[in-house]
Amino acid sequence: MTNSYQSGVRFAAFPDRALATVLAQWIGCQRVIYNAKVEEDRYFYRFRRNTLSLTGYQTPLDQQYSQFKDRELTPWLYDVPSQILRNGTVRWMTAKSRQFAGLSKAPVRKRAHGRQTVLITSELFRFVPDGKDGHRLILGTIAKPVGELRFRAHRPYQVPKQIVVARDAGRWFVSFSYGVASEEILRTPTELAYELNQLSDEQLEAATLGGDRGIVSNLADSAGRFYVPPAICEERKADKARYVKRQQRRLARQKSGSKRRNRTKLKIAKARAYAANCRRDFAHKVSHKLATESSKLLVFEDLKVEKMSRRAKPKLVNGKYVANGAAAKSGLNRSIREAAWGPLVTFTKYKAARRNKLVLTVPPQYTSQECSSCGHIHADNRVSQATFICQLCGYTENADINAARVIKKRGIEKLREGVTEKPKKRVAFRRKNEKSGPVRSKVLAEREVRPERAKPAQAPRNETRSPGV
Ligand SMILES: [Zn+2]
Repeated sequence: MTNSYQSGVRFAAFPDRALATVLAQWIGCQRVIYNAKVEEDRYFYRFRRNTLSLTGYQTPLDQQYSQFKDRELTPWLYDVPSQILRNGTVRWMTAKSRQFAGLSKAPVRKRAHGRQTVLITSELFRFVPDGKDGHRLILGTIAKPVGELRFRAHRPYQVPKQIVVARDAGRWFVSFSYGVASEEILRTPTELAYELNQLSDEQLEAATLGGDRGIVSNLADSAGRFYVPPAICEERKADKARYVKRQQRRLARQKSGSKRRNRTKLKIAKARAYAANCRRDFAHKVSHKLATESSKLLVFEDLKVEKMSRRAKPKLVNGKYVANGAAAKSGLNRSIREAAWGPLVTFTKYKAARRNKLVLTVPPQYTSQECSSCGHIHADNRVSQATFICQLCGYTENADINAARVIKKRGIEKLREGVTEKPKKRVAFRRKNEKSGPVRSKVLAEREVRPERAKPAQAPRNETRSPGV
């Protein structure tokens, strides 16, 4: 139970030319430090396996970055405030901690293209009231001010302790993150599941909504509604796709590193950003609708979106590569991406949690073949892409709506069984050894284990079993 939650806003920002240059420099230098920490860690990992393990030394896991500053090799690192560089290591350390907690894989190098960000802590910015219930955001220290970052606050915000400035496809953004006091006391998923379980079957039936994510309609719910992005988005996306093709042909002819080529690249990035914005907008609108409606329990399929949208594997037959349907698969992958399956559920989860609603995921197997009325499962039930006719009881419904109802049924069953969502935690392969320090070589491991076996605290029969000592 808590009465606050973490929230944030992202505003469009408009740095002037001079400030944009400074910010680009900050972004680049922070990335350099981050990548250097990634490389350093990889180096020590290899080194540790070969030799460091024999000495018993631990891999340095710190936020030092002074070793990367060099008057001759990296003189430009002296041009940015040290806090910017330090925040590079802070970001790396955060990523590393997430890895240790089993929440993500090891940090990887940040690329120099695409969305670029810089984490700025309070030493380097000030919010000055502008007299019109807003603020002016001044970057830099008092001694060395850099300039004002103008931003458009399209909704209320709180003054944060740190900000992230991002540049994406030629546009600038500034994000604030802060804790927000909740109007009602927020319950944990387990508490919510307990409360929902107190409802009668009819009440629970009325309070539950199942959602089936698909390609033709991005989402169909058990109340019989379909959710698709507006048609105008599809039209514009098709226009932009043609435009991107044309610009790519131009790009191929342009001289590498030229100003015109960079301009073409930016045009392509801007056109592509449109589709991403549509996707995010759609996912936010639908998830908001689902989370603010009367339903208290929302159920989705447990789709492994990332695994489902992987590239087709090459097919090797008798030493020759044969057709593997890669084009069709990448087409499907694009459809999955455009249907925003992942964001739909991710956004719904956090929005529902703020309103004391529970989101459950259920196994996706045979949801499209099962009859939501009698439970009969057969491939023949799905007579076409759109139509479902149960071969046993004759129940007829739109195939996606039927699937959403099956999902709802499974969600209610899951709740009644008392199963709640476990926090998603993937344990890294190396986790076991991490507790006792870094991975050690076999030689050292054996040497360490043997005296332990002979410890008097253990059963005495162990002593006779270690003649090798
Ligand atoms: Zn049936």
